[in-house]
Amino acid sequence: MNYNNEINLKFFSEDLIKGYGGAIEDRGRGIDAVLPEELAEELSVPEYLSLQFDAEGDGEWTIHYGSPLLDKMVTAARERIPVTRSVLHFDYLKTAGFERLVQELFYFGNAVGKVGEIASTFNEYILLYCSYLAQSDEQKEGLLTFVYNRNTLVEVSSMAEHLAEISINSTDKTSPVDLSGKEIEIIEQLVQHSAQGVLSAELKDFESSMNRRYRRDVKNLNEYYTALRQEMEKNLQRSGLSERLIADRQEKIGLIPAELAAKTDDLFNKYSIRIRLKLSGAVLIRSPIVKVFFHVSVGRKKKTITLFYNPTLKSLEPLKCRKCGKDTYKPFFGKQMNILCSQCI
Ligand SMILES: [Zn+2]
Repeated sequence: MNYNNEINLKFFSEDLIKGYGGAIEDRGRGIDAVLPEELAEELSVPEYLSLQFDAEGDGEWTIHYGSPLLDKMVTAARERIPVTRSVLHFDYLKTAGFERLVQELFYFGNAVGKVGEIASTFNEYILLYCSYLAQSDEQKEGLLTFVYNRNTLVEVSSMAEHLAEISINSTDKTSPVDLSGKEIEIIEQLVQHSAQGVLSAELKDFESSMNRRYRRDVKNLNEYYTALRQEMEKNLQRSGLSERLIADRQEKIGLIPAELAAKTDDLFNKYSIRIRLKLSGAVLIRSPIVKVFFHVSVGRKKKTITLFYNPTLKSLEPLKCRKCGKDTYKPFFGKQMNILCSQCI
């Protein structure tokens, strides 16, 4: 049984049930839940049930990795990401000066290139709200925002900061989810990747604080067991102890290192940080953009790549490495003229 997994599954289940309008009662290692009819039907379970999260448990409704009930719950959760739609309006859209902008932003490693055709068009972006919950001895919650070009999957999260200044026409707040299951899967991977860096910055102080407490408690624990061993060894020196008593106490002293190791492990678990990241909303943003077709050549090989001018960022978006998926302004071109980042050459 993995304690951390169990906790994650419990939170996930609670959120899902509450998100559907159900109610839960925490029973420590399990929960009692009242499910709305819709969810109960989807999961093929009764509307009132006790859920357990221990793979070895003998309850009727057990949720663990690999259990069919968990699979159904994950499917249900994905179907409920609320999506809204927005359309951006710009009074002015850049139509010239792209050659200079390309030179300023990009470094084409082994290629030379020039700007070709320019096309004003529209593109879709996906803005995602992800809530996170970091749990350790204390917990910290927060919300992260990520934005991706729906077409190229390049991350353009800084768009979010500028959106407030732009004329946005939010329409159809209740539109049903029209991100496909496959797309959600891809987005989840992108988010996992993007979140790593953001979360490590967000949680820096939290992590230091937990590390400090862990070191403090381990130090205290070591001091306690050292003193205990010394005390027990001193007592052994006393005269008049029977051989059996001496053997008994020596055995107890011998057990101290194992006990200390177990207690240190407990502390490690106590101060480990478990992070739960949850997609909690999405906005599909339709924006005017300019496509800049850029002709590159490496020796005799030629290729036309599409650069996206993003009016919210007032900049060109980076390209995506075909090998590792990282965004780059320093593309190199492989044998098949595929775009590679500097780490994947
Ligand atoms: Zn790469």
